[in-house]
Amino acid sequence: MTAASDFSGDTAASLSRRISSGETSSVNAVQKALERIARLEPRIKAFIKVENDDALEEARRADERIAKGERLPLLGVPVAVKDNMLMENRVATCASKILENFRAPYSATAVKKLRAAGAVILGKTNMDEFAMGSSTENSAFGPTRNPWNVETVPGGSSGGSAAAVAAGYCPISLGSDTGGSIRQPAAFCGVVGLKPTYGRVSRFGLVAFASSLDQIGPFGKTVEDVALAMNAIGGYDKMDSTSVDRPMPDLSEALKKDVKNFVVGLPREYFVEGVAPEVRKAVQGAADALAREGARIEEISLPHTEYAIAVYYVIATAEASSNLARYDGVKYGHRSGGGEGLEGMYSFSRTEGFGPEVRRRIMLGTYVLSSGYYDAYYLKAQKVRTLILNDFREAFKKCRVILTPTTPTPPFKFGEKTADPLQMYLSDIFTISTNLAGIPGICVPGGLSSEGLPIGVQMMAGHFDEESLITAAAAYERTRSFPSPKI
Ligand code: GLN
Repeated sequence: MTAASDFSGDTAASLSRRISSGETSSVNAVQKALERIARLEPRIKAFIKVENDDALEEARRADERIAKGERLPLLGVPVAVKDNMLMENRVATCASKILENFRAPYSATAVKKLRAAGAVILGKTNMDEFAMGSSTENSAFGPTRNPWNVETVPGGSSGGSAAAVAAGYCPISLGSDTGGSIRQPAAFCGVVGLKPTYGRVSRFGLVAFASSLDQIGPFGKTVEDVALAMNAIGGYDKMDSTSVDRPMPDLSEALKKDVKNFVVGLPREYFVEGVAPEVRKAVQGAADALAREGARIEEISLPHTEYAIAVYYVIATAEASSNLARYDGVKYGHRSGGGEGLEGMYSFSRTEGFGPEVRRRIMLGTYVLSSGYYDAYYLKAQKVRTLILNDFREAFKKCRVILTPTTPTPPFKFGEKTADPLQMYLSDIFTISTNLAGIPGICVPGGLSSEGLPIGVQMMAGHFDEESLITAAAAYERTRSFPSPKI
């Protein structure tokens, strides 16, 4: 079978046109996707669970709706969802042994909205356990491999969702981003990934990692697909108290605009030692391209950038230690047969159920919240978080979008950073600040390294200004072509 005949080269926009025009059906498209998955998954392992029967049933229903004349942007289009989002009656393991047999009693709002837009969900994708990691090496069920080169990591924590799009299983997938978990795997897998403004997409039904940072967002092969997915999942939801009640703009409109009045800021703190020359070159290439499209490029400063990682690993671990307290072997998931009494059962269940990185973070988070240390760590981190937010407020007085690398290096090899957690944490150095500030960020493929591996460029915009991000990202995308991996 050639790549083209199984729709793996299609975008969501083109596949939805084919399905709606009757050129093909959703059942056919989903069947081809499932065949491709069966063929390539032994190598890639993007999914934790593929729901063959349910997907085909959903596709049949989509075809019925089309036959009745219904038209929706994603009607009949196959998509994949990260395994930390709930889907009624389906697994939601968060790639953790502690939730191995957990089935969700209800669906996440983002999942419901994606379905309401017509999408057909193929299954749940692999991730770092509880979204803690940057490579999917922390999945209790084994890592996902990068479709560009199976010896390198796909990034994380939403590595399965990024790889699913890069491998041509489906044109769109959902991930979650707490410190970079959409944008970093998008960079490593050569796809587009958007982390929306905090409050733009409902977190209802997303298993919480760090509640003040978590956001759900889409992956796609193109900026247009990401805009379509955002149109579907964005907007107010009364079930999430942090969801913000403001109208969701039609991001397809933003695709058509140009960057003529845009000032694009290049923060000098993002071009420091440790950034690979190829990455610098890609970002400079994007800046030049935007300048040719009429934008003005200016150097700016985000002076508190150097504190971002430290602040994140205090706040994120503190919130995680609190959020993960609920997995105690009583209410959810794995219960150990070992241990004396209730306390022993808790401790055995949690020790057996959580992997080493999750345990490390629970301990660190419990420590920074403990009495006597709270002021020195957690409170201090919250204050520095405000300084980081203020840096962005100042910057966006001068510029419309900020352009930076997404990651310091191209994708790394398996095992390269697992021995030293700090090295792993550093791969999110350029993505974490947007989560701390709550602003949106997008990653667009910016070129290939000398080894033929993807390099991403990141753009950020002010709160709720996804429109400017889409406009700038699409303007850049139009200036260059980007290949698909040969798998
Ligand atoms: N890699 C970062 C971490 O390990 C970010 C993860 C995320 O965004 N979920 O915490």
